[in-house]
Amino acid sequence: MQIHSAQFEISAPDLDSCPESDLPEFAFIGRSNVGKSSLINTLTNKHNLAMVSAKPGKTRLINFFRINQKWDLVDLPGYGYAKASGQTRNKFNVMVSDYLVKRDNLSCVFVLIDCRHEAQKLDLEFTAWLIEYQIPFVLVFTKTDKVKPTIVQKHIDYFKKAMSEFCDGLPRIYTCSAKTGTGRKEILQFIDQAVVN
Ligand code: GDP
Repeated sequence: MQIHSAQFEISAPDLDSCPESDLPEFAFIGRSNVGKSSLINTLTNKHNLAMVSAKPGKTRLINFFRINQKWDLVDLPGYGYAKASGQTRNKFNVMVSDYLVKRDNLSCVFVLIDCRHEAQKLDLEFTAWLIEYQIPFVLVFTKTDKVKPTIVQKHIDYFKKAMSEFCDGLPRIYTCSAKTGTGRKEILQFIDQAVVN
C-alpha cells in the first residue's frame, strides 16, 4: 500500500467522544516506550505524525489519523504507565477497554511488544484479555535492529509458548524496526487486504 495522505483527525478522551465513522479502524497499543509513535511515523512516512516522545506514556488520549481517506489509524494510550496514579490508570483502562470492546468499526488491534525482552506479564495479560473478548489482533515485535535476529526469534518463541497456555491458535506475528523500516511493507499489506475485504 502506498500512503498518499495521513492526517491527524481528532483526540478523544473516551468512547463517546470518538468520531462517527464507517471506515475500518486499526488500533495500535503497547507498553509505554515500546516504539509505538516511531512505528506510526514509519508506517505513514510522516516523521512527526505521532509525536515521538522520550517521556513514557505521553499519549493519554485516543488519537485518530485518517489514512488515504480509506481507513483510520488509531493510536491508543500506552498501557503500564508507571507514573500515573491508580485512579488515573484506571481511567485509562476503562477508556481503552470501552473502545476495544464496543467500537463497531474496529478491524484489528496491533499489539506492540519490545523484542529485546522475554515475555512480559502485562503483555501476556493483555493478549489473554483480547482473546477473552474475541477482539482481533496481531502481534508486532518492535525495535528488531537493536538485538541479534536469534534473540528476536528466541523472544518470539517464548511469547508464543506462553500464549499457547491460554489460547488455541496463535495470532499473526510481525517484526519491525522504525530505524530500518523492516516490517513496514508487510504490515501495510496486511492492512490493505483487510481494508479491501
Ligand atoms: P512510544 O512511547 O511507544 O510511542 O515509543 P517511541 O516511539 O517514542 O520510542 C521510544 C524510544 O525508542 C525512542 O527513543 C525511539 O527513538 C526508540 N525507538 C523506537 N522504535 C525504535 C526502533 O525500531 N529502533 C530503535 N533503534 N529505536 C527505536
